[in-house]
Amino acid sequence: MQTIQGLHHITAIASDPQANIDFYHTILGQRLVKRTVNFDDPGTYHFYYADEIGTPGTVLTFFPWRHMKRGMKGNGEATAVSYNIPSPSLTYWQERLQKHTISLAERQTRFGQEVLAFSDPDGMTIELIANDDAATLQIWEDGPIPTQHALRGFHSVTTWVEQTRPTADLLVNQLGYQFVGQEGARTRFQGASNDVGLYIDLLERPGQPTGSMGAGSIHHIAFRTVDDEEQQEYLTKLRQQGYHVSPVMDRQYFHSIYFREPNGVLFEIATDAPGFLYDEPVSDLGMSLKLPAWLEKNRAEIEQAVPEIQIPQKIKSVSQSGKTGAKQ
Ligand code: ZN
Repeated sequence: MQTIQGLHHITAIASDPQANIDFYHTILGQRLVKRTVNFDDPGTYHFYYADEIGTPGTVLTFFPWRHMKRGMKGNGEATAVSYNIPSPSLTYWQERLQKHTISLAERQTRFGQEVLAFSDPDGMTIELIANDDAATLQIWEDGPIPTQHALRGFHSVTTWVEQTRPTADLLVNQLGYQFVGQEGARTRFQGASNDVGLYIDLLERPGQPTGSMGAGSIHHIAFRTVDDEEQQEYLTKLRQQGYHVSPVMDRQYFHSIYFREPNGVLFEIATDAPGFLYDEPVSDLGMSLKLPAWLEKNRAEIEQAVPEIQIPQKIKSVSQSGKTGAKQ
């Protein structure tokens, strides 16, 4: 059995779907590669933002519930999503975000890398981390960001925990992560690949309140596994260790199992296959509402129920200053 390569996707909760698209697709330049619905609540969208093709390790997904109250960050949940950027692009991003009146936290250095932090429209923390290691992904060429400055997949996810030790044991002994180092209350672990979505940081906050889910909360984080067979081995092994692991669920673009780690964060293990090109070609990704076969019969009803949204296509940058020429 291979060890876990890194992150597959991260799923969060939003409120206004249009504000979510405007922020991730248009400002951050993460292509909306899939527009579908929450399979358990088909009147709600499920958006997937990623590189051009939905490479695992670049995929951030949202359930936007329009009237959802804001969540409260706390222990037992993931609290920040971090993307890689090339270090010369820090200034570009600082200027672009300021131009869009997004307030930036003071720049900090973490494990020797510069971190630019800010919040999305629902208060979720996003960080851009200067990291010049090569990342295998397909940058969205028609996106709003000049190629040299585009985000390069996930760097890491930060989780807040009561106690580092039990989650560290799970990561290292069951999932094959390696200890990288400790900086203050933060401990970093690294997946087995040398690619995107490599790190998970545990921030120990003993005695602090647990989080409550709402808009701006990260619902779960998913790790990559290559195929169904390997996923089954994880399922068996984790159950043997006493984890309550869900049965395999068909998420149309991947297959998933879920369990809570000892501090309460919801973990998922998702397969790379079949991927986002399963039901539409690269050129069409995200342009229409996709439904799994079992919901197709309700399409008319579902299309009526979901809110109307505008998705700018081909918003290629017209200059390096970050101006965009938005075309529908
Ligand atoms: Zn998931």
